[in-house]
Amino acid sequence: MQSSIFNVRVPLPARDEVFLMNTITDAQLLVSSDVAALLDRELDRDGMWTAGADNREAIDLLTENGFLVPSREHDRRTLDAHLARVKSDATELHITLLTTLQCNFACDYCFQGDHGDYNKFADKMTLETAERVAAWIERELARVRPQYLTLMFFGGEPLLNVPVMYYLAERLWQSARELGVEQRISIITNGLLLSAEIVDRLVPFGLKGVKITLDGDRDMHNKMRPLRGGQGTFDRIVENVRAVAGRVGIAIGGNFDEQSAGSYPALLDFLKAQSFADKLVKVNFKPIVRAPEPAKPKGMLPLIPVSANGVPLKPLNGTCMTSAGAGGASGCDSCNVLDDQMSLLREETKRHGFPTPDGVPKGPCHVHLQHAHTIGPDGSMYACPGSTGEKSLSTGHIDDRSEPWRESARERFLRLSPWKECGDCAFIPTCAGGCVVASHTTFGDMNTPTCHKRTFESAVIALAQDVASAS
Ligand code: SF4
Ligand code: SF4
Repeated sequence: MQSSIFNVRVPLPARDEVFLMNTITDAQLLVSSDVAALLDRELDRDGMWTAGADNREAIDLLTENGFLVPSREHDRRTLDAHLARVKSDATELHITLLTTLQCNFACDYCFQGDHGDYNKFADKMTLETAERVAAWIERELARVRPQYLTLMFFGGEPLLNVPVMYYLAERLWQSARELGVEQRISIITNGLLLSAEIVDRLVPFGLKGVKITLDGDRDMHNKMRPLRGGQGTFDRIVENVRAVAGRVGIAIGGNFDEQSAGSYPALLDFLKAQSFADKLVKVNFKPIVRAPEPAKPKGMLPLIPVSANGVPLKPLNGTCMTSAGAGGASGCDSCNVLDDQMSLLREETKRHGFPTPDGVPKGPCHVHLQHAHTIGPDGSMYACPGSTGEKSLSTGHIDDRSEPWRESARERFLRLSPWKECGDCAFIPTCAGGCVVASHTTFGDMNTPTCHKRTFESAVIALAQDVASAS
């Protein structure tokens, strides 16, 4: 028997204890240092040898929770089975729907939105396409028979195309119900057009959550996320949040850089003082790192790669830069990788009493899941929200057209295995090599890992401290 390669250990010397986590079994244990030391002992097949019979109970506990395994090969086989299971999991059919690529903001860090004549040419889903999208999803529902159908409306700014949202939500609610499937809806929006009317119309069809971005306190947000004429948007968004809080779960997100990070504590103070503070279901910030050109060596990647002048190194032309792509997704929350400032902001967020993710990766992201799809305004399909920018990365079409270039992209995504470059990293079962869109954008190779291991480690340390202080 030997220690699993998927063990993460955090010594807590003040308590003479060690926090143990296994990323494949998801087990977490707080054990004495003596018990943790058994992981380093020479053990026979029964886990005994130099450990001695006195430690039988502890060895059984470690074995049952996956911390002790028969061999390295056993770990590898378990990993393969775990990733295959995650990939084919049919519990949920998850569809990210880009109702439009148009946007009414002119965000500083985004190529999209109301800059120049982008909106003139940006796609918007028609009701006729929406009918075909619904028909495709209905076929998938009947084929996959999931427990849940999750629709995530995203853009561009999805609320610029409300008729399509209503149509899809209502029609698919009916279809899902006929099959005994529970429909759940979420919206990622800049919040400017959010209203009680929209929320009330969608709640009966499964709307559970709305995610809104605030990029710092009032002044900073107005600078980062203005309208084209430079007018601020903070006050209007906050009023809209106030109008819908309590009717639906509201999550607040934010993108910070070196300049804006300092304004987030003031934003947290502001939010805490609002009447809707206890209605916020999640508050979570992520960094924008301005990377110098030419682009970077392998290693730590920026979440939203933009050059020093604020222009994306390679525009992800599709989904909103607020939330998707280059590891910044929240179209894929798995993308919430951290840096040191993020750890600090997470602690501040917790200190203000807001629910926030612990930063420990929870599982391979949507790009690896067979039953997660992203559909663009023209019906093109993509493996994940971050890959919508390049038509050549489209993996299919709702019309089931067979086109060689989409087929070849589909094959490329099916063959993805960046974790094979990750050696014995303990986070492979939950990280699987990181954001492949970031790899594609930065290295031109989706199979090169985008590694945020150091930040995962600091998140586990914070988790260990939380667990210890609660025990
Ligand atoms: S590859 Fe994964 S982490 Fe990156 S944008 Fe796509 S779903 Fe998100
Ligand atoms: S990308 Fe980094 S953290 Fe993720 S599995 Fe690979 S080595 Fe581990």
